[in-house]
Amino acid sequence: MALTPAVAAVARVAYFASDTIVDSASAFSPYWASRPTSSIGASSVTSLPAGADAGATLLHTVDARLTSYTTDASQALSRLLPHLPELSSRPIVIHVAADKDLSDAIVLRAAVPFFIHSPSAQKAHDNALLASRLARTESKVVLHVFHLGSPDESVEEVAEDQVKPFLLAEKPAVPSSPVSPVTDTSGVLIKAYETASHATATLLRRPQHALSKRGDPAPETIIFTLGRSHITLDVPGAAFVDLSLASPFPISDVLASIGPSTSRIFVCEQIQRWSMKWTPVFLDVVSALQRRETEVRPTVTSVYLGDTSHLTEADFSQLLSRPPSTRLQLGITPSSGPTGARTPHVPKHEASYSKILTHLFGDRLQIVNAPELVSTQGALATSPEFALGRIRGDIRQREALVTTVERLLQTAKLPQDLHSLFSGWLLAKDDGVKSRQLGDKIVAALESGAVSHEAASHVLALRTHLSAPSRWIIGSDAWSYDIGASGLHHAITSGLNINVLLLDTTPYSARNAAAERRKQDVGLYAMNHGDVYVASVAIYSSYGQVLQALVEADRYNGPSVVLAYLPYATEDTPALTLLKETKNAVDTGYWPLYRWDPTKEAHGLEPFALDSDAVKRELQTFLDRQNHLSQLTRTTPQLAAEVVSSFGETVKAARKSRAQKAYADLLTGIDAPPVTILYASDGGAAEKKAKRLAGRAQARGLSTTLSTMDAFGLDTVSREEHVIFITSTAGQGEPPQNGRSFFKALSVTIAKGEKPLTSLKYSVFGMGDSHYWPRAEDAHFYNKPSKDLDARLAQLGGERFADLGLGDDQDADGAETGYKVWEPKVWKAFGVDAVEVQEAEPEPITNEHIKAASAYLRGTIAEGLEDHTTGALAVSDTQLTKFHGIYQQDDRDIRDERTAQGVEPAYSFMIRVRLPGGVCTPRQWLAVDQIADEHGAGHFKITTRQTFQFHGVIKRHLKPAIREINRALMDTLAACGDVNRNVLVSAIPSLSKLHEQVYAFAKATSEHLLPRTSAYHEIWLDKKLVAGEVLRDREPLYGEFYLPRKFKVAVAVPPTNDVDVFANDVGFIAIMDDQGELAGFNVTAGGGMGVTHGNKKTYPRTGSILGFVTPDKGVIVAEKIMLVQRDNGNRVDRKNARLKYTIDRMGLDVFKAEVEKLLGFEFEPARGFQFDRNVDDYGWQTGADGKHYFTTFVENGRVQDEPSREFKTAFREIAKVHKGNFRLTANQHIIITEVANEDLPEIKRLLAKYKLDNINFTGLRLSSSACVAFPTCGLAMAESERYLPMLIDKVEKIMEENGLRNDSIVMRMTGCPNGCARPYLAEVAFVGKAPGTYLMLLGGGYYGQRLNKIYRESVTEPEILAILRPMIKRYALERHDGERFGDFVIRVGYIAPTTEGKAWYDRMGGEGQHRLAATA
Ligand code: SF4
Repeated sequence: MALTPAVAAVARVAYFASDTIVDSASAFSPYWASRPTSSIGASSVTSLPAGADAGATLLHTVDARLTSYTTDASQALSRLLPHLPELSSRPIVIHVAADKDLSDAIVLRAAVPFFIHSPSAQKAHDNALLASRLARTESKVVLHVFHLGSPDESVEEVAEDQVKPFLLAEKPAVPSSPVSPVTDTSGVLIKAYETASHATATLLRRPQHALSKRGDPAPETIIFTLGRSHITLDVPGAAFVDLSLASPFPISDVLASIGPSTSRIFVCEQIQRWSMKWTPVFLDVVSALQRRETEVRPTVTSVYLGDTSHLTEADFSQLLSRPPSTRLQLGITPSSGPTGARTPHVPKHEASYSKILTHLFGDRLQIVNAPELVSTQGALATSPEFALGRIRGDIRQREALVTTVERLLQTAKLPQDLHSLFSGWLLAKDDGVKSRQLGDKIVAALESGAVSHEAASHVLALRTHLSAPSRWIIGSDAWSYDIGASGLHHAITSGLNINVLLLDTTPYSARNAAAERRKQDVGLYAMNHGDVYVASVAIYSSYGQVLQALVEADRYNGPSVVLAYLPYATEDTPALTLLKETKNAVDTGYWPLYRWDPTKEAHGLEPFALDSDAVKRELQTFLDRQNHLSQLTRTTPQLAAEVVSSFGETVKAARKSRAQKAYADLLTGIDAPPVTILYASDGGAAEKKAKRLAGRAQARGLSTTLSTMDAFGLDTVSREEHVIFITSTAGQGEPPQNGRSFFKALSVTIAKGEKPLTSLKYSVFGMGDSHYWPRAEDAHFYNKPSKDLDARLAQLGGERFADLGLGDDQDADGAETGYKVWEPKVWKAFGVDAVEVQEAEPEPITNEHIKAASAYLRGTIAEGLEDHTTGALAVSDTQLTKFHGIYQQDDRDIRDERTAQGVEPAYSFMIRVRLPGGVCTPRQWLAVDQIADEHGAGHFKITTRQTFQFHGVIKRHLKPAIREINRALMDTLAACGDVNRNVLVSAIPSLSKLHEQVYAFAKATSEHLLPRTSAYHEIWLDKKLVAGEVLRDREPLYGEFYLPRKFKVAVAVPPTNDVDVFANDVGFIAIMDDQGELAGFNVTAGGGMGVTHGNKKTYPRTGSILGFVTPDKGVIVAEKIMLVQRDNGNRVDRKNARLKYTIDRMGLDVFKAEVEKLLGFEFEPARGFQFDRNVDDYGWQTGADGKHYFTTFVENGRVQDEPSREFKTAFREIAKVHKGNFRLTANQHIIITEVANEDLPEIKRLLAKYKLDNINFTGLRLSSSACVAFPTCGLAMAESERYLPMLIDKVEKIMEENGLRNDSIVMRMTGCPNGCARPYLAEVAFVGKAPGTYLMLLGGGYYGQRLNKIYRESVTEPEILAILRPMIKRYALERHDGERFGDFVIRVGYIAPTTEGKAWYDRMGGEGQHRLAATA
């Protein structure tokens, strides 16, 4: 084959760039045969014969700074696939010369870090350089695919002596980032690509981009191409985007190339032999578009790209006029017949899988139960038994062949060449490719009469067995209803080298339809046999994983079972439905993707690889058991699902001892009377009681089992003798989440009239709050779950051995009062009440234990991140990650659904950034925007503590996301946890000079109070300490226990109290001198918002003023206040641990004296100041620096793109051109700061373009604020952020009816009493109690100076509107001049004023005629 310019150019670059070249007989071979003789070229070129396994050769090129592999053969590429995981972190470029079809190359896309495509000879040359540089600098494999092209193409080539220096030049350093640069995440990979492309562009003086766009600047149609495209036509209304980087997929660039004018997208891919309906780039474009949360998305159509050299405008008109659902074609397609390999006959829908088998194994493929056998062998021919019979016969014949060959080898007269052929075959007889090649040669030699031995004719008679087949039995999920009868069991236990491909076609949405027939989990069944390779795959979720599993199954020397998901209901099911069904099944864990290779364990490797994010509970249990067994035998403890107790040891050690204890219990506890303790618990109180009871039962010699009700199930309870139930009360008298299925099962069984519990003896203890529901009609909600449970168990035949026990939060000792009465009855019933328990009962694990045992916030977070069997971290680690700015959450919208499916909740993480004063640069903003896209849910939130919060970050994205945050010179350390949190600063756009001073002060305070542990850098940034250095960690301010609770600091600048300074543990109120300079601060202490519903020991409190200090003393004052709290705060009861309670317990004077003692000086008397608001000043303002500031209104701080409100895009576009900063406000809005006069028009244009300049909202809306709550906050009891805007729609109508459209009323809402949006300072506030039900508060001060008070303990929306309507009307008619709503409702007697935190509950429930009858 003659060299084309493209091949020659790529080969030349490879030669001058690489130390070593490996070539599989290919279009490159002529170049290597006559390669230039140059001292600067590659030192070795290895030419492999056709069909040879290049992977093995490449694995040996360990010392090369760069290796290039050149090929064009599809067979060579598929042989490379199994080696790619091992090769992926080597500096290797694979140059593939494609001939009019990318199908063979693109299947490798998922298995390599980088896939670069070149549509022309010039691009092939440029990308060959780029790929070489990328592979060397990142030490990763880069797949570069280009087209053979035509002989008339011209290429401008780089000088040969420039190649090596370019390649060996160091990467430009990332400016002062504390992050090490290499991870395997797509965000980091894209950055690496951009760095390499920038360097290449500088060398070649030609742009090198991930994609290139040309055509109409505001196109209606965008045509993406991946393939050799010759399109030079200008098509009106259309733009063409050629993809150069196909993996990692450049989502941000792709989305940026699709403008608002685009309504239709064509994705053209040159992959004629693609065996699936949906093509890879098409899927990537569709899923990129899913990230845009807009209602109207462009339609996307997949197009086969053929030869485009003779395209005319008419071809495009035809393309554009076709309906979007049709699979289209552009250009002339070469005859698209089969690949030449034998295609087995399988049902139409299953063609996707059988085509892959054909593609991978070619002539070696044997579908042993192929349907065409039915015509000659009958229907039995498709059953596993039949297939097994055939295989056994085949194997016997092959064994006979081996014996014959061995006999022949002992023949003295055997010619030398035949001898080496036979011995080579014996060695390679299990290698599909080699055995075939050698077999062909053997047959040819024998047929030529080279040997006359009778064994030779025997070999010829068995010639069909010379090549090692890939034997497959293809079956349906029908076989899994009865594994024994279907013959599947025999296949699994046969020990034969066979592969079973089982297609499961049940759509996810129809998974419960055939519940009466129970499908067995074949994967688990097979894994339990120990010597079976098992994989679970889904072609519409991960094509690469399917390929890998099939290749691994083929190579496994024993039975393999590949479970393949293909959810179609009928022949006509559209592929998009298949796609959606597969996505749901994989995302929810209904169909996890995994591979299990038992041979790995023998080499000390993990046999299980999870390729998706979620797993079913059964699978989790299986893996847990594996881990558990491993724990007993290995020296390195493996992770268990969760930690239960530490007893003062390290958490890791506790896990190990727990495993040993469980084993010991198994051996010794056989004779003890068994008792099962089941609990249902949301907040953890019932769980704690159940665990303590279990400990006490064991101490009395009872053999104890502990579980949640849902995990245990009703079936299992019916087989138990003694069961104790403990439940708390959730929502409106509902059972807690982890007991709901159990409760449902009880109801269903009662409805059926069955009595399955006649041998059960039980007792129930319930926990509730008799004051939680103050109205008489709601009183029955008190302890409803426990009462219902007690009654239902009796209905089902159970017999109480101790009466129902009820714990009431309102009792003197809370629920413990009732518990102390009930527990002795239990011991009496078991006859162990007289047992003297000598040993102290184990202390329940608390946050204090976790902190102390964590080795300065390490815990087992690092190990947990490596545990791919669960999306969660260990329970104790979730307490520690808070100190690192990370909260574990789960999607509560689908929690019930997932529980019903038996899969773990959809875990994800919230990451909160530490950003003192909420100030960030445009570069940081762009980083935040990108992190949300690449690692989070595609949007982010501005919080009430002036920072960014990302939601929906799954576990394996945590580390990359934190690295990206640090790379942008921000961090997340101490954004949550029992430490000082993000320090707030008034946003004050008009006082620019003062802001500079107070901001610098806040930053210094934040830095000073940071924890000093190196765990953060070690876990997230891989800044490893040398072994043993953990011991050197010290926390000079915090000590190993850190603070008793969170600690918050804010700096306010009167007259603005936008930070609600009195809501913070420490507040600094800036005082200006006569020259407008910062003179110092009035210091406040003891503010705090969190409350527990119904627990009157908890209350909100406004900070008390301690006195005045000068600016230089501010930081040390914050430190000393914190230290007094550290040493005096309540560490036994977290509900009573905040500084506000410490001050009230110590007395303000004593507390202040303690602080002054540590300071060594006294506070000066406080100076005068005046606040007048705590809401933001929206719109344009000009600062003292002459620059301009615009405060935008972003409702509840959610930065996302919505139809007609593309705020995320808007801020991104502004950040690209803005030269000042961004400032986040404590009211969750965003200020664009420091806009110079000359930049004003452009910023105004962008604000107008995206409607961000709209601040024409009602005063009520502009003054409102809500916390996140559902679906992500684990503490939420009711909606907040999603609901408040809707409530405001209704309340603002009332305001408008009364002429109050522009009047500001501070209205806040939170999903629980924790009070993140500071509801207790609002004029009117709603705090979630249960879905749709809120506590209503009235009478807060307009500028955050006074707490409000509970007006109604439980209101729903109609009640809220009924209360507010007359109240607002009266306010409009009777208010004094300038009188605020909060002051008004107190003056006219709706509610009493709250004078201090301790008096918050006094006179709650309204005044006089407004007092609710039930609370009166
Ligand atoms: S107030 Fe409660 S529900 Fe709202 S974000 Fe905070 S903890 Fe979650």
